[in-house]
Amino acid sequence: MSLLLFSKIAWASGVVAWFVMRLPFQRKARRMKVSDARHRNARDMTLLTISSTGLGVIPALYALTGWPKALSYTASLPQVVAGVAVFLSALWLFWRTHRALGRYWSVTLEIKDSHKLITSGVYERVRHPMYSAFFLWALAQALLLPNLLAGLSGLVCFGTLFFFRVGREEKMMREAFGAEYDAYVARTKRIIPGLY
Ligand code: SAH
Repeated sequence: MSLLLFSKIAWASGVVAWFVMRLPFQRKARRMKVSDARHRNARDMTLLTISSTGLGVIPALYALTGWPKALSYTASLPQVVAGVAVFLSALWLFWRTHRALGRYWSVTLEIKDSHKLITSGVYERVRHPMYSAFFLWALAQALLLPNLLAGLSGLVCFGTLFFFRVGREEKMMREAFGAEYDAYVARTKRIIPGLY
């Protein structure tokens, strides 16, 4: 098997593993009543579409057809090995965030009935570890897919979702949890422990 085929398969396996991992949590979350869905709007939906285009549609198109050929280069073995390692760490972190958030997790921004603020486990030092996991996934995509468009589309498109969403999510959490959230914000960072 060529290194290119291996790295494309590694990327696709990571995406499938993430999808399968998420299924039981999706089922669990659907059973929860939503008490505040004001933030589940067209803007949130647009951001989710942009993010899935960059993490799914564009790289899948490249993996299957090689398009856009002019932007391809040859990846080295260390680059591919690093890509696999980063994808594995993203999946591990996804698993931890889903386990920690349980039924309070949602794809769109919303507050559930009897929603509790989770501040332990992977939520102890950063407020958005699931977004950290998505950035790790996007980084793995850049390492595994040796094409400037397909490789970088994840970082650009997920980055767009993150930067247009995170402030609104924190505002929603502040409205729901008040001083408890302020204290949590004061002792944590957003996505990188100790840094940002
Ligand atoms: N931004 C978080 C969660 C993403 S899922 C992360 O990156 O890990 C988005 C939903 O999770 C939001 O609608 C919100 O209701 C919920 N949520 C976010 N942070 C939470 C927390 N610390 N405790 C409980 N629910 C949280």
